[in-house]
Amino acid sequence: MTQLPLRAQLASALGRTAATLSRATGRGDGSVIGGRVGLALEPDLLRKLARDRRLALVSATNGKTTTTRLITSALQELGDVATNAFGANMPAGHVSALSSAKDAPYGVLEVDEKYLPEVIETTGAGVVVLMNLSRDQMDRAAEIWLLAQKWRRALVARNTHVIANADDPLVAWGASTAARVTWVSVGQPWKEDSWCCPECGGPLDRGGMDYVPPGGHAPGVAVRQADGSVPAAPGSPAGPGGPGGGLAENDWACRECSFRRPAPSWFLDGDTVVDPRGQRWPLDIRLPGRANRANAVVALATAEAFGLPVQRALPRLAEVTSVAGRYTTVEREGRQARLLLAKNPAGWLEAFDVLDPALPVILSVNAQGPDGRDTSWLWDVDYRVLRGRPVYVTGERRLDLALRLDVAEVPFQLTESFGHALAVQPQGKVDVIANYTAFQQIRSEFGRAV
Ligand SMILES: [Zn+2]
Repeated sequence: MTQLPLRAQLASALGRTAATLSRATGRGDGSVIGGRVGLALEPDLLRKLARDRRLALVSATNGKTTTTRLITSALQELGDVATNAFGANMPAGHVSALSSAKDAPYGVLEVDEKYLPEVIETTGAGVVVLMNLSRDQMDRAAEIWLLAQKWRRALVARNTHVIANADDPLVAWGASTAARVTWVSVGQPWKEDSWCCPECGGPLDRGGMDYVPPGGHAPGVAVRQADGSVPAAPGSPAGPGGPGGGLAENDWACRECSFRRPAPSWFLDGDTVVDPRGQRWPLDIRLPGRANRANAVVALATAEAFGLPVQRALPRLAEVTSVAGRYTTVEREGRQARLLLAKNPAGWLEAFDVLDPALPVILSVNAQGPDGRDTSWLWDVDYRVLRGRPVYVTGERRLDLALRLDVAEVPFQLTESFGHALAVQPQGKVDVIANYTAFQQIRSEFGRAV
């Protein structure tokens, strides 16, 4: 790497000192304050730190921290990798990550969806990874459409190689202005934000309607009859079987314009990844659930964009066992609680997929700043999957969740704290789903994960 200019070197060094002081005084991991100090002294520091490195930026509503970790693990096969492992995913966090690994030839940066255009421009990253876009806290569909539109503008006329999930219509639209896209098919379990064509606003036909939205189906969407057939909608040009019926699973197409799913070259097929040459590889990873198998496919496609073949990347993915405390277990008095983080409706679906159906589950919901103050999103989640197992509800906004579960006719017990909920469990394992600050509270109160 070429030497940084003197001012940038100084800004970078002072930033690292501030980060060290922040950690030493117990004010967090220091990655944000360190980056802020560096940027205050040299506003162009991120651009300078990014120069001469091969960078991947990773953005999505869900899974970006985990996927960043998986790609980082894979690329370590090639050399040192700078990364923002603590989820500080705005420019100050990026400065801190690159500054603390000055000589790393590679960088993998998790990027907040809103900051992505700015960070693409500043870093000139060669690879951008786009996975999913859905409502998060109070963000609604119109706002995520605006985000995707900003991604499109940021990718125009750049020599960026984008790795994108073809199964998410909004992501496909957001990525489709890029000069080069590797499309991956990793599914889209949460479809509630993608019933309309992002290009023209017309209805989207969806194949493989395996998910039934809470409260029934959105208008214009195929509803399978008891005999498995799909009634044709009036005026629908769709093929045999009516709207969606002529489409394979995960496929989608606008009924009113030419926008449709791009042809993917990588696929997630159950527990297997299919690479662009059609070769199948068992996804032998330690992280649980379908969402993490999807993240692993995205990581493998990204690794290949860096010249790393599947056979070398895959064993590296298996080394990742937990990410920022997710999927780890905390223990107290013979009870082992496995921690799952779910911050928005799509995240709850992913967490439900990981739950052990034989175990009780503790749900904890807060509504502090990082969670979003408004808990109305709880009503977007279909909780009926929890019926039939012991459910405990806690957290600062436990009454909001309790009302929602009551309406969904899911039996539960209300407990005043996570500690109480854990104490009433029999000895053994229990699953926990918590949103952001609830998750952090449990981690800090119950100490190091085991
Ligand atoms: Zn359309």
